[in-house]
Amino acid sequence: MLDASKIRADFPILSRQVNNKPLVYFDNAATSQTPQAVIDSIVDYYSNYNANIHRGVHRLSQEATDKYEMARQKIQAHFNAKHTHEIIFTSGTTHSINLVANGFTSLLEKGDEIIVSALEHHSNIVPWQMLCERTGAILKVIPMNIEGDLEMDAYDMLLSNKTKLVFVNHISNALGTINPIEYIIEKAHEVGAAVLIDGAQACPHVKPDVQALDVDFYVASAHKMCGPTGVGMLYGKEEWLKKLPPYQGGGEMIAEVTFEKTTYADLPHKFEAGTPNICGGIAFGAALDYMNNIGFDNIATYENELLTYATEQLENIEGLKIYGTAKHKTSVISFNLEGIHPYDVGTILDKLGIAVRTGHHCAQPIMDFYCIPGTVRASFAFYNSKAEIDVLVAGIKKAKMMLS
Ligand code: PMP
Repeated sequence: MLDASKIRADFPILSRQVNNKPLVYFDNAATSQTPQAVIDSIVDYYSNYNANIHRGVHRLSQEATDKYEMARQKIQAHFNAKHTHEIIFTSGTTHSINLVANGFTSLLEKGDEIIVSALEHHSNIVPWQMLCERTGAILKVIPMNIEGDLEMDAYDMLLSNKTKLVFVNHISNALGTINPIEYIIEKAHEVGAAVLIDGAQACPHVKPDVQALDVDFYVASAHKMCGPTGVGMLYGKEEWLKKLPPYQGGGEMIAEVTFEKTTYADLPHKFEAGTPNICGGIAFGAALDYMNNIGFDNIATYENELLTYATEQLENIEGLKIYGTAKHKTSVISFNLEGIHPYDVGTILDKLGIAVRTGHHCAQPIMDFYCIPGTVRASFAFYNSKAEIDVLVAGIKKAKMMLS
């Protein structure tokens, strides 16, 4: 069982005040907070072994290289990838998706079809639109229903031998819906299409097994799972990573360079041009250690309790409408107060020390579907508490009174 009050002590930021009120941090879907163990790993790197990796014979460079490659192994183990070289360090989910989208430019032909879902983050829409512009491929969209679930019958109808790629997020950042990715992957493979799963919102809550999923690409950002910003990962099946051309050229990604011809390094370095976020990669590994220590089963059970409790409390507020009521969802609640702009609610909550996100959450098509400009989004992590949810509920009631 998870003891949230003990866990909270691991996060220095959670004891700060905002507007003379204790911080209530409910913007976890945007970025998670950082435990002391991860902060320590960052301080340790810059205090003790800051050096460039892979090329140095000196001690510091070797220590940094060992720790960086150890972090890659931790990521491999966490996602259960078959090979360490199937894990590519990137600057985050957006970078990972663009790397794959760019790689497919030479593999697609005019008239090929790409399927995305109505629940995507902009970073899983725009790179594919750009890919379609480059190749003449056509973008198709799996529709959603009012509960915020994807329409799987419609997905079945969209699939054909023209489908070359399918891109879906594992969990929606705007609504919290957990998508049926096992089914999506299986059906895509039946028509010979490759699948990329955007795990940015899933990885703080679940531990994906890329081999059991048989997924072709899986991407995530460290900053959503207790790690630092500016670092993330791309898992790709070896056969796909070998097929894709490099994304960027530069140092680190070459085998040999002459002015006549350059040959590329083996995986994973082929996709890792330039000096990477060394400290970030190592801290990503420390974040995985921290979360695995708590245990993802414990995290899921506790966060579900928070979600149920908060949903019940919020549903009792007259005029409050929750968007996204899927049966399978994580600890994200998107809502609006009748007749009140989400930004105004967020501003009053901030005055009370409560951090929520307001707006379209980089998922404008979802807001268009509901014909709203945006929502207020409260997203909970394993270090939040029911007492904090009570503070949120009181804050929303106050905002409603002031703005009605
Ligand atoms: N996909 C989803 C589902 C997300 O929630 C986010 C972050 N909000 C991203 C992609 C982009 O992640 P990053 O900004 O870390 O690249």
